[in-house]
Amino acid sequence: MPYRYEAPVSQTLFDRASLVTPGGVNSPVRAFRAVGGTPRFMVSGTGPYLTDADGREYVDLVCSWGPMILGHSHPEVIAAVQEAVARGTSFGTPGEGEVALAEEIVARIEPVEQVRLVSSGTEATMSAIRLARGFTGRAKVVKFAGCYHGHVDALLAAAGSGVATFGLPDTPGVTGAQAGDTIVLPYNDLEAVRAAFAAHPGEIACVITEASPGNMGVVPPLDGFNAGLKELCAEGGALYISDEVMTGFRTSKAGWFGIDGVRPDLMTFGKVMGGGFPAAAFGGRADVMAHLAPVGPVYQAGTLSGNPIATAAGLAQLRLLDDAAYAKVDAVSAEIRSLVSDVFIKEGVAHTVSAASNMFSVFFTDQPVRNYEDAKKQEAFRFNAFFHSMLSQGVYLPPSAFESWFVSTAHDTQAVERIAAALPAAARAASEATA
Ligand code: PLP
Repeated sequence: MPYRYEAPVSQTLFDRASLVTPGGVNSPVRAFRAVGGTPRFMVSGTGPYLTDADGREYVDLVCSWGPMILGHSHPEVIAAVQEAVARGTSFGTPGEGEVALAEEIVARIEPVEQVRLVSSGTEATMSAIRLARGFTGRAKVVKFAGCYHGHVDALLAAAGSGVATFGLPDTPGVTGAQAGDTIVLPYNDLEAVRAAFAAHPGEIACVITEASPGNMGVVPPLDGFNAGLKELCAEGGALYISDEVMTGFRTSKAGWFGIDGVRPDLMTFGKVMGGGFPAAAFGGRADVMAHLAPVGPVYQAGTLSGNPIATAAGLAQLRLLDDAAYAKVDAVSAEIRSLVSDVFIKEGVAHTVSAASNMFSVFFTDQPVRNYEDAKKQEAFRFNAFFHSMLSQGVYLPPSAFESWFVSTAHDTQAVERIAAALPAAARAASEATA
């Protein structure tokens, strides 16, 4: 197997892990199956850098798949965590930290009048669609191919992220009953949504969409797409759910809503709002949220929901994310994008650098990428060669051609220079790669 012996300590850990955990990982994309080779077991992170078990340092362009927008081990986040942990780790009662985090979310994101905290993005979307069904009394859910909303049974059909990475058509274990009310449509196609509402009058509970998708690579909504969805939902009596687990608190202070201003009925959050801990949320219109237990009949709960350490970390991180922080992340993202584009042009590699605010990814095609079908047409084999060249030169990219790259406020000149130094050889490797 190529690359197998490049990281002997990681390989030993991976061998151990594979005996006791399926595929050796606790989330599939981490296993490097799409790109091959040994997944790097990381032991520490500081600022824009990760250090693996073999003692190699990498510029991190994954940022824990989004959350680490201030870089690793930010001193103020660590201090907040240490302060919280010294007071105890979980009480199973309400606490002030969760009130403060909810207030921060409500203050930042105007359509969110009330919010419920959960522990993962999956829980957030699962709960949001249950609430939408309970509120409307309808069963059907519209989602878009290539959008990933966590591993919720009803939402795994034609999902992005790991499902896209591995090309899984559908997931065994999801029954017809669980997926039968899911309508999967092509992304960025309002006519398809209009047709679905016409075909199922009075049956659609909600349309759920990534506010700006990052799980089939970065594929932003076309102008007017989200506004059109909102309008069609309003006309059809369905709720418009904007999944901002990835974009929330990352693409702007108010996430993607802060960019396109389209008011969802419900929204979901995760990643950045947890500061690297398991905290997520769903929220929106107060009249809809009033249907949740204990006020209303739609049940939803969690032993560790609003955990005091997770909320302290999330709150500390959000409070540091002011306009200057976003300007910094946007600027470093633009700088890296232009470096990447320049080397591919120089090497004559057909590519599209696709960005949504500071989230971006590279598609190995020069054709427009507007949906999952387009994304799948790229020459993903070139990404694998590119990925391994970058990795061997100390730059850690998402191990898949169908994921967003993430940067942080900690990505400084030195980190960018390291990326710039690695790019020419990696672009050459992409250019020379064969399917
Ligand atoms: N929704 C979106 C848009 C995501 O990107 C993800 C995870 O990547 C999820 C939901 C699921 O979140 P989690 O992995 O925390 O369950």
